Amino acid sequence: MKKLVLILSAMYLAANIFAAEKKLKIVVSIMPLYNITKAIVGDTADITVMVPPGASVHTFEPKPSQVKDLANADIFIEIGAGLEFWDEKMLKAAGNKKLKIIRCTDGVKLMQEQGAEKEEHPEAGNPHIWLDPIIVKDIATKIYGAIAVPEYKEDPFYTKYAVFDMQMDSLDKYIRAEVSKFRIKNVVSFHPAWAYFEKRYGLKEVGVIEATPGKEPTPKELENIISQIKKYNIKTIFAEPQLPRKAADIIAKEAGVSVLILDPLGNTGETYVDFMKKNVDAMKEAMK
Ligand SMILES: [Zn+2]
Repeated sequence: MKKLVLILSAMYLAANIFAAEKKLKIVVSIMPLYNITKAIVGDTADITVMVPPGASVHTFEPKPSQVKDLANADIFIEIGAGLEFWDEKMLKAAGNKKLKIIRCTDGVKLMQEQGAEKEEHPEAGNPHIWLDPIIVKDIATKIYGAIAVPEYKEDPFYTKYAVFDMQMDSLDKYIRAEVSKFRIKNVVSFHPAWAYFEKRYGLKEVGVIEATPGKEPTPKELENIISQIKKYNIKTIFAEPQLPRKAADIIAKEAGVSVLILDPLGNTGETYVDFMKKNVDAMKEAMK
């Protein structure tokens, strides 16, 4: 009997400790948002990513089980502007009235794409703002603002947020220095993911292989891209890990150029800075 009481009281204690350390539950849509959020919250929150490694956010179909993640979450962080074309349906199914929703594109002036076909997933403008470290500073501010809740006596996030903000300034300087050494400044990317990056750093997109990600170019579009490659003397075009690279290979063969990988989504096991540097390295190789 005494033993049972001990076990029960130990269990009670364990349950209380667990309750006291109940972690904030955050769901994010894509991996760059995971890495930005992780930099601010460290291990004090549980972060779940909806679009898994290897999947494209543009063709992603959420699993019904992911409704549960949203139902149990405190905060949902997404890019918005139609990137998460499934969000309304998922949020409705989750029915979580306490859920705080952060849309990173709120208040950001979005670039408008030209020529992209919009029937399938209408977007309010180009949503790929997370590939510009200066806009990412604003994203980090939004995330920090959402988690710095008054329940905390001391703000455990401010230092990490401030460090991340400074890292974005250094990354911006680093990219500027690297891009200034590029001999070629014209880009043919796989889909219009790099528009904000290119604008920020003075690169020019002279062609995209898939204006609508996941939809192969028509023969006429292929012809256009190949003539742009020749006109601008492009040596390398880009494919992406999350989308089939067939179209890039066909163009490369026709135009006599090589294919390198740019990764607009990355992985959870890396920092945002590493993720961006990896892409800058690929560009360096392509644009020298
Ligand atoms: Zn994209």
